[in-house]
Amino acid sequence: MIKGYLLFFFSGLIFLLCLQACKQDNAPPECDLINQLVSIDSLQIENKVLLIGIDGFRSDAMTEEITPYLFQLFSAVNCYKNLTHSTEEDTYSGPNWSSILTGVHYNKHNVIDNSFEGSRFDFYPSFFNYLKRFIPSMKTASIVNWLPINQEILFGDVDYAPIISSNDSLVFERAKDLLVNSSPIKPDVLFLHFDELDMVGHNFGFSPTTPEYIQTLAVLDSYLESLMGIINDKRLSGENWLYIVVSDHGGDGTSHGDSSNPKINQTVLFVEHPLLSFRTDYVSNQTDIVPTIFDYIGLSSSEFDCKKDGLSILE
Ligand SMILES: [Zn+2]
Repeated sequence: MIKGYLLFFFSGLIFLLCLQACKQDNAPPECDLINQLVSIDSLQIENKVLLIGIDGFRSDAMTEEITPYLFQLFSAVNCYKNLTHSTEEDTYSGPNWSSILTGVHYNKHNVIDNSFEGSRFDFYPSFFNYLKRFIPSMKTASIVNWLPINQEILFGDVDYAPIISSNDSLVFERAKDLLVNSSPIKPDVLFLHFDELDMVGHNFGFSPTTPEYIQTLAVLDSYLESLMGIINDKRLSGENWLYIVVSDHGGDGTSHGDSSNPKINQTVLFVEHPLLSFRTDYVSNQTDIVPTIFDYIGLSSSEFDCKKDGLSILE
């Protein structure tokens, strides 16, 4: 009996020691150990967000001739606009979309290329993960042309995030179905990712003088116009939407690997709302998107505040 008890005691001790060792190998950041405080502003909880991602948008291709709709938005409406929006130092798509969607730099989420090997979304989850935990009534959707975003970064965090092969035209059609027809759900927060500009850049060149790059941007510009039209209709019917356009990186030649090249490490951010005030004289970066969204929907989390790297661009 005593032997059995001792065996139980020692095996329990070994288990505890192992648990401690495991904890040290996989030590969560201190932010997971502090008292969790979450507050939600009841006046902002109904606010809604459309976040549009355009892969490989080189800033100097945002011109009156190539993207006339976005150009006039940049010059006319109440918005935050930045053509020197800073990418991560690592200019692959994986790290940048990860930073855009988590609010932390790549040294934390640990995505260093498009393989996603070693990613730490368990400790630095996407903003959809916080929404799911803290505002479970909020409906979320993510429609992407580059599937690793839904497979790796957002997996399990979003109410509707299909992992089916797609193209930009289908992303646009599915976005309209969600926003106009509430099909298959009526999203409060919707993320879209368009990939064909990056594909064209790799095949023909990332440049405002490359015909294929220009043509693809012109199509995207028409999507942006149509989506803004839908958002404006929704605003007229009483829904309070924030409209964001962001890119992961620019490009030069047929690549975006040279992270010291400003044609690559600077890209586009546009955030629009008819009534809000935005920061001035502030150079945004990829980690600012999530704090801005949380600020807009009135979500404050001590866990996220402890982990985050970015700042809200709302004043
Ligand atoms: Zn690429």
